[in-house]
Amino acid sequence: MSAIDTLPPLRDVIASHGLSARKSLGQNFLLDLNLTAKIARQAGDLTTSDVLEIGPGPGGLTRGLLSEGARKVLSIEKDRRCLPALAEIQAAYPDRLQIIEGDALEVDPLAHLTPPIRVAANLPYNIGTELLVRWLTPPDWPPFWESLTLMFQREVAERIVAQPGSKTYGRLAILAQWRSDARIVMHLPPEAFTPPPKVSSAVVHLTALPKPRFEADAAVLSRVVAAAFNQRRKMLRAALKGIAPDIEDRLVAAGLKPTDRAEQIPLEGFCALARAVAAP
Ligand code: SAM
Repeated sequence: MSAIDTLPPLRDVIASHGLSARKSLGQNFLLDLNLTAKIARQAGDLTTSDVLEIGPGPGGLTRGLLSEGARKVLSIEKDRRCLPALAEIQAAYPDRLQIIEGDALEVDPLAHLTPPIRVAANLPYNIGTELLVRWLTPPDWPPFWESLTLMFQREVAERIVAQPGSKTYGRLAILAQWRSDARIVMHLPPEAFTPPPKVSSAVVHLTALPKPRFEADAAVLSRVVAAAFNQRRKMLRAALKGIAPDIEDRLVAAGLKPTDRAEQIPLEGFCALARAVAAP
């Protein structure tokens, strides 16, 4: 393991600060700084961007982002036990790292960041999907971020890039692919983490498109897709009964068959349906 900075190895950081991993906080740490630098590189050229990181923990990815030249990193961490370790990184990069102690679901990071902004994180598994959906569904587009480079459980990563007809195709695939390019850029085995989780992980890189692929209202599309996949084995006319009383007519207006199932409908079809549902 070669050094990417002059700070101590992460194993020593964890030992000296007593950072035993807590399952309740989704703590599976990356200790190999070559690996964290490699993840940071997947985020693209950081030298001209501010980077938002959720859950820095002992700071492995934070150090990767900084050593790869990020203009500024803002890291939000809920576990205050990590703060002294993060303060040591801050001392090594005085003008480029800002730490906020708090819950990423509640803190508004935008007051502290200057565009262009990239997001890079090894997300805590319990809030990863919620954060991703928030980042993908602002009412207006383009969003505050240019790209998201995010570690997920492999199964979640596969749901984000899934295509129609596959078992993993659903709400995440549609919301992600509607307004961004999404691809899996790295696979990581459980042993890459300390402690190792039960499942494999993958890094997904999403680039925001300048405008959505097809016109639709974000809130309506979200609602339609959630209902359609909530009962994915049912025909659309049954799964979407609660969305509009005349849903069969609206399905037909969108060019869909009321007897189709959600799994078969491509993104374009869901956007047409969202427009038909929003129509007076
Ligand atoms: N980035 C570190 C790494 O790669 O080794 C740690 C990643 S670990 C999977 C997730 C981190 O998110 C933990 O440090 C955990 O304390 C933090 N975390 C959990 N819930 C959080 C929340 N609601 N807001 C901010 N951070 C959170």
